Order: sequence, then C-alpha cells, then structure tokens
Amino acid sequence: MINLTIVEALKKLKSREISATELTHAYLSRIEKYGDKLNCYITRTPERALADAAAADERIANGTARTLDGIPIAMKDLFATKGIRTTAASRMLENFVPEYESTISQKFIDAGTVLLGKSNLDEFAMGTFSKTSYFGAPVNPWQIEKHLTAGGSSGGSTSAVAGGLAMGATGTDTGGSIRFPCSITGLVGMKPTYGLCSRWGCVAFASSLDTPGPIARTVNDAALLLSVMAGHDTKDSTSTPNAKFEFDSELKPILGDGKKLRIGVIKEFNNVQISDDMKTLFEKRIADLKSLGAEIVEVSIPNILDALAAYYIIAPAEASSNLARYDGMRYGLRVEGVDLEDTYKKTRAAGFGEEVQRRMLIGTAVLSSESYEVYFMQAARVRRMISDSFASAFDNCDLIVCPSGASTALPLDSDLTPLEYYALDLFTVAMNLAGVPAVSVPCGLASNGLPLGMQVVGRRFDDMRVLQLAKHIETAAAIDNRPTKILGE
Ligand code: GLN
Repeated sequence: MINLTIVEALKKLKSREISATELTHAYLSRIEKYGDKLNCYITRTPERALADAAAADERIANGTARTLDGIPIAMKDLFATKGIRTTAASRMLENFVPEYESTISQKFIDAGTVLLGKSNLDEFAMGTFSKTSYFGAPVNPWQIEKHLTAGGSSGGSTSAVAGGLAMGATGTDTGGSIRFPCSITGLVGMKPTYGLCSRWGCVAFASSLDTPGPIARTVNDAALLLSVMAGHDTKDSTSTPNAKFEFDSELKPILGDGKKLRIGVIKEFNNVQISDDMKTLFEKRIADLKSLGAEIVEVSIPNILDALAAYYIIAPAEASSNLARYDGMRYGLRVEGVDLEDTYKKTRAAGFGEEVQRRMLIGTAVLSSESYEVYFMQAARVRRMISDSFASAFDNCDLIVCPSGASTALPLDSDLTPLEYYALDLFTVAMNLAGVPAVSVPCGLASNGLPLGMQVVGRRFDDMRVLQLAKHIETAAAIDNRPTKILGE
C-alpha cells in the first residue's frame, strides 16, 4: 500500500478495496519502523491519525466522501495545528501548543486527510539541509547508509514522502525550501504563485516571500494537493481574491498532437557551474520536449545572478522584524533575567539557534538607518528588476525551464560555510522574489543513482500550465521513486 500514489489510493478507497484505517495502519507501522532513522517527524500523531481515518471511512461508507478522504499526510511543523505542538523546529517554540488552526491545515482537515504528524524542518525554515533544526536533521531515504541530506527547509516532509512515511506533505518555500529538497529526494514540489495559498497561521519567516505548497511523489498528486491548498483567505491580506486552482484527477497534455508551446531557457544560467549529470539530464529532457513539438528559445533575466544577494538582504530583514515577537513575554520560551531587558536577552539567546541569530543580526543591520538605503532599498530595486525581467521574458515564451540545483544530495556532515549554503539557493530564490509559480520535477537519476530535479516556471497564476509541462518531464524522465524500492519493505 505504501507505493500507491494519492490518485491511486483515492480510487481504491472509493471502491472500498482498501479502507482508510488499513492505509493509516500501514503508514503508522512504516513510521514505527523508519521514523527514528529518518528523523522526519518532530511530533507524531498516531491517535489523531486513527481517529481521522475512522471518520473518513464513515464518510466513504455513507457516500459523503471528501476530496482527499483517508489520505495520510505530514504537515510541516511550521503550520499551526490546534492542540498539537507546533515548534518551527526551534527551542523557542519547543512546547508551544496553538489554540488555533492554520488556514492550510484546516483545508486539509476539511478535505478529509489523515494527519500522521508534524514534519521536521530547518529552524524557522532558515536553511538548506534541515541541519539547523533544534531536533536534529532529517535523513534522505535514498542510499540511507550514506546519511545524505533530504534538503531544507522542508526536509522532514521530503524525507517522509520519499521514504513512504507519508503519502504527501505540505512545505513552505521562501527561497527554495520546497523545490530544492524535492529535487534531491526524487519528488515533485511546487512553489505556487505568491498569493494563491494562504499564509495565515503559518509561522512567519519572510512574509513577502513565504509560500506554502505541496510535496508529493507525482505531478498529479501535487496538483491534487494544491487544489486543496489554494484559495482566497480574508485572514491573509496578501492572499489574492478569486485565487483558485481547480483540478480533477488528471493533468491534460500541453504538448504533442501538434500543440505549440515556446519554452524559455535562461541565458544567464548557462555559465553557472553545475554537475555533469545535471547538465546531461537537463539537456536530455529539453530534447524530449523538443521532440514533442516544443520550441526552445533563449530568454534573458539580466539580474538573475544578483537574486541571491538581494534575497539574503530582504529575507533576513523581514525575519528580524517577524521574529522580534519572540521575547519571552506572551508565549514560547522564557528565561528569567534580573530585569526586563535581561529577560529579553537571555530568552532570545537561549531560544534561537546560531543560524537564526545570524539572520537577525544581518536583518537588523541592513535595516539600520545607515544601511537601509545602500542595502535594503538596493535589494528591493534588484527585486523589482528581476520581477520585471520575468514578465518580459514571458513575452517571448510560455514557460521557462532551469535546473533546481547543481548536484545530487550531499552528506549531512558536509562542512559548508554559511555562504556556501546560501549559494545552493542560486537556482530557486529569483522565483520567490518575482512571486511566480515554479515546480521542481525529477529529471532523472545521476550516475551515482541519486535523483536530480529541474524546474518549470510560469507567469503569475499560470500554475496549471507549470504543472502540465512538469508532467511531460516526469513522463520522459520516468524515475522509479516507489518508497519500498528506495528504503526497503
Ligand atoms: N535556503 C533558503 C534560506 O535559508 C531558503 C529557505 C526557505 O525557502 N525557507 O533562507
């Protein structure tokens, strides 16, 4: 049962070939068996899962089944879940139990899913390997003996889905945190258009960039999850009115049968160093798209290589402001000091890990009166230029493709400097700055047997076509990401 896709499982659930309770038990025993090794869950919720499953079975039996009734999922531990500890992988929120439900997790409840637990991540979603988690890093189920990263920040979600410890999961993508981890775990991960999915109740990192999105094993499954997540929310002022993503079980081809499509390749990325495997697989998939009738054109996003620098000013600036709320006064950790200021200092010094502290220092510095104009405003201008360049690039093509990262998963004990970690986001951050939709889809296996991903990027709100093209790439790459094959029975 662990190898079923969401689409397949829904069919079997509806025909009563399997029950939600059986399916949930299969996942719970899988979590029992591999949960500690993968460290993909911070909090497991088996009782809740079985109660959800029983309710789903009842609805299926009396003909009131919902969109995702009985599907076991993992919720990134950044989404507030009422009555269930929500940590953001930080000591600061180690014992925080929200009294409210985030919009996204509520939508999954309303769709009938089974909650298996809260998945691990980088502390406050800041990182690339999920190593900044207060609860230790999750492990990539591919070649598990090598102890590779499952990526970050949504690394617990990708570890869980790739290993068969959840059928699908939520992620958030501020600078690549869905797409990068998916690319190195053989999964499909989508950063939808900014504004399509509500951020309400999701622990804030950089509010103008944070984007909830789906993580799944196939493009169809990702589309199905997105259809549940998308929608206008009056509680999030950046949520787009009339935001919608409608999907009914199968993405329609946009290539073949003489269909015309212009696909852009970003010129500025040509000289960025990537592994030979990434290069070869990317070119192979482009050739496949060509043979399906796509026209490949070169497009230019002149400032795209400055996206990293702009991102690492804007994201920390917003983070420093968002994280000012953790002061030990209202909720979260409190370390008593001799006076108010000392309590602030002690609480924040003990509650935040090194990377989070680094970001707040950078953020506070770039927002200071002497740096604001030269750093923050300059970064904001670069952001605007990148956004405009994407818009003009889309005058010359329908969709854009590019790699998701430079190489396959690295060992968790790789000793990279902060700047080397930041550089890994080169291919992903620009799409967050521009707010455009981008999906990472497997493009094949490298010579070391590990998966690699490539991105499809579209105009704002062209999320459907982004996924449609990704489906063609998925079909051409045809990697085998069945969890029992990757991690064992
Ligand atoms: N790696 C990036 C960072 O550390 C992206 C994180 C994210 O998308 N949440 O900021």
